[in-house]
Amino acid sequence: MLRFVSYDVVFQEVPNEVTLAINISGCPNKCVGCHSPHLQEDIGDELDCVALTGLLSRYHGLITCVCFMGGDSDTEAVDVLAAFVRKITLGQIKTAWYSGRNQFPVNVSLNHFNYIKLGSFIEKLGGLDSICTNQRFFKIDKGNVFDCTYLFLSESVCSME
Ligand code: SF4
Repeated sequence: MLRFVSYDVVFQEVPNEVTLAINISGCPNKCVGCHSPHLQEDIGDELDCVALTGLLSRYHGLITCVCFMGGDSDTEAVDVLAAFVRKITLGQIKTAWYSGRNQFPVNVSLNHFNYIKLGSFIEKLGGLDSICTNQRFFKIDKGNVFDCTYLFLSESVCSME
């Protein structure tokens, strides 16, 4: 089961999309220097199809994408919810996932996502906007995976330099 603590409409997390980002708690990754330690706690409201339907109704006509921020404690649930978004919006709303894992989970269908960010947070390497980052942002199109991390790198600076 997944829980979420907050949500917001964002513009930078998924390039060229107006995204409803849902911040999921219970993160198991324990990155050193974690930027959001409260997301490691098992707190918040249950994120299920009912909650998701409510959020989609609230932002109907305003967003082009839903992004699951976290959810690594139950990757299968993220997959199910992404498929649900696709189904009830008839594919009109794209789906994205910000995972802290370093590889695609085997129990997740790439066909349910338009975008996936992979990689744990390593403070000295920085996030997607750092040229040194270990993280990767992928666009998925018809089963093909494209590394689009470069979209975040304008004016980036390597914190290790
Ligand atoms: S994946 Fe994000 S929330 Fe989870 S431990 Fe790492 S930095 Fe913190």
